[in-house]
Amino acid sequence: MKCKFCNSEQTKEFLHLTSPHNRQIYILYECQNCLSRFFDINQHHISIEELYEEIATDNSNLSRRFSPTPYWEQQKRIVLELLKTPLTSILDVGCRTGDFLLHFKGDHIKEGIEISNYCSEIAQQRGLNVYNDSLENIKFDKKYDVVSAFAIIEHLIDPIQFLDKLKSLVNIGGLLIVLIPTFECLKVKVLTKLNIGWHMYRPPEHLNFFSEKFLDSYLRANGYRLIRRNYTSGGMFNPVRKIPILNSIFNRVMFYFNKSRLNRLPIFDHSYSYYQKIE
Ligand SMILES: [Zn+2]
Repeated sequence: MKCKFCNSEQTKEFLHLTSPHNRQIYILYECQNCLSRFFDINQHHISIEELYEEIATDNSNLSRRFSPTPYWEQQKRIVLELLKTPLTSILDVGCRTGDFLLHFKGDHIKEGIEISNYCSEIAQQRGLNVYNDSLENIKFDKKYDVVSAFAIIEHLIDPIQFLDKLKSLVNIGGLLIVLIPTFECLKVKVLTKLNIGWHMYRPPEHLNFFSEKFLDSYLRANGYRLIRRNYTSGGMFNPVRKIPILNSIFNRVMFYFNKSRLNRLPIFDHSYSYYQKIE
């Protein structure tokens, strides 16, 4: 099996895993060259449309009303801190209902890309300009100061095509923000030692696991410099969520942890990379 990302022939079968969706066994490959891991979508015949119908149609917790959240407030603060020039335009790829974009007040250009009809309709009702299509299909006549892609890449059949398009959309001096699930962290090492599966290995919903080595070198070769990397627990990790009092203490501790400088250490599995376009 050739590496999906760097094309190296030096890959090996790393793990065999049962899909939580169709109960089929999938092989997780590891590339010895770029150190990334991936599943092969073609290993079993599946309908991606049906899969996403199943996964993405739980819209019950989506609100039409916008209210700010500490999570997106923090993301906004980081963006404004890292961007050395005044923000004039931002594009959020996979914007859902537009929550991140709506945290930016002022008359910047705020645009989103969202493949779900339902979500993009809400984002549009909230006053955003949203392309209801996949990134690869859209023709752009401009670039942006900030382009973000939160939790998209792991799902894509052709992540390199996506990355190529993404990297063409940032102004010189601007920021590219990428959130990926990472196995290169303490949490996954501990789970592996304890022989516990990592919830992010979900074929065929999650297919791609870039190594930092791959992502950094790929973007470096395209004129980007890594200027910040944070790791957080996301919302999924909570071993005590069934015990209300511990649950609320745990959530509070994680909130401060995710905000603190400890988030620069690769402890948790949500990896946020901030790249500046330098040439
Ligand atoms: Zn590779």
